[in-house]
Amino acid sequence: MKVIKKLLQYSNMEYFKSRQAKLRTGEIIDYNYFLQNSKEEFTKSFRKKVLCDYKLDDFELLKSLGSGSFGHVVLVHLIKKDSYHAMKILRKIQIKKTKQIDHTLNEKQILEAIKFPFIVYLQCSFKDNSNIYFVMPFITGGEMFTHLRQIGKFSETLSRFYASQVILALEYLHYLDLIYRDLKPENILIDHQGNLKITDLGFCKYVPGRTWTMCGTPDYIAPEIILSKGYGKSVDWWSFGVLVYEMTAGYPPFYANDPMQMFEKIVSGKYSNPVFFSNEVKDLIRNLLQVDLTRRYGNLKNGINDIKSHKWFKNCDWLAIVNLKTVSPYIPQISGITDISHFEGARDIDKTLLKISSVDLYPDDFDEF
Ligand code: AMP
Repeated sequence: MKVIKKLLQYSNMEYFKSRQAKLRTGEIIDYNYFLQNSKEEFTKSFRKKVLCDYKLDDFELLKSLGSGSFGHVVLVHLIKKDSYHAMKILRKIQIKKTKQIDHTLNEKQILEAIKFPFIVYLQCSFKDNSNIYFVMPFITGGEMFTHLRQIGKFSETLSRFYASQVILALEYLHYLDLIYRDLKPENILIDHQGNLKITDLGFCKYVPGRTWTMCGTPDYIAPEIILSKGYGKSVDWWSFGVLVYEMTAGYPPFYANDPMQMFEKIVSGKYSNPVFFSNEVKDLIRNLLQVDLTRRYGNLKNGINDIKSHKWFKNCDWLAIVNLKTVSPYIPQISGITDISHFEGARDIDKTLLKISSVDLYPDDFDEF
């Protein structure tokens, strides 16, 4: 008892109380511990079938928000809970025809097993005779792409704010041995508080080593993918360099009318900076858009620390960012939880989506869903 009294006397009670309070609210106080813990959680839940007993009739389908490579994303109302969600509807026929069964299963399994403030996640998933359904939180601010095209280019302050959240999201994914492989403004959503959520994990892959698959979006694809070399997480840092450039300039660094010419430019690594770029952002981009992998930031012996401690980020408090304690320089105007005004492509629901086959299509192929 005496020892405890002495300990209490000497310990910093203010620090102790604030630490306990942070633990209660789930605040991250030790980032390395958080990453290790996330990896353990991911390893436990990855590829474990999650059961969910919703069916299409439990939802009112309100508006189509957009379409991705293999399906439609719809704003839905979950009647029982009176809650609103984004539902990705994937046609089994389409998935089978385009040989995307493994890709789609992979996306589902990853979305189910991750949890990070700047990445969307799956709330539940189910299937019927015709479709596969992914239910996710509805992110009301729309795509970064739309916002960027509307205002032309972002200030460096806004670019840096977004870049810092993307860095943390990539760090999290890479820590779990996931390569994202499709970073671009179209796949980044902005929530009602102006924070980012990376979406569309269709190309995301669990790769503890190297992979060889050719995929991505031409403007954002890394030279080592074009050159059919085996590649790893470094491809995401290349795309991140393209993203920082595009957000700050308003257009991507490697541009051509046809993809072949674009690929030649990418492989040459030659681009020019607009005059208004600060020296700091130029330096960061130069270190990311390195064709030579032994010089690319994110891929060197200091890993992500070369990026996080770069002078362009000198005032970033990384713990505050991950704990959502920084205020976004841009807060989208949103009139309510069903406001779809930030979705340019929003339209009425395609009625064919609601036609469900009376026989179960390809039951064996979709057994694991
Ligand atoms: P995807 O197939 O994941 O690329 O999604 C296609 C489009 O649907 C995206 O580009 C967004 O415009 C929209 N979208 C996807 N997920 C969500 C979401 N969780 N909340 C709001 N819109 C979404």
